[in-house]
Amino acid sequence: MGDHLKGCVVENGILKACKLLKRVLHPEPNAQCKGAYLLEFRNTKTGEVTRTGAVIRSGECSKGGALMNFCPFCGHDISAHFRGE
Ligand SMILES: [Zn+2]
Repeated sequence: MGDHLKGCVVENGILKACKLLKRVLHPEPNAQCKGAYLLEFRNTKTGEVTRTGAVIRSGECSKGGALMNFCPFCGHDISAHFRGE
């Protein structure tokens, strides 16, 4: 256990990124204008993070971006928990 070299997994809506994906994800959406970041959805009542996903920026300093459907490194599906609604 504790070995995530196999690739990304999603557990209870929380993305556990593989090592390579983790390396490119920035924890703060505004920390960088380019690259990717970890998107967090919180329960507004409890403040608990209910779902996370990887978002790749379009290139500008905008809020927009595209949710990664698959990890570009390990190829695992990392967006099924967003699609199932
Ligand atoms: Zn991965």
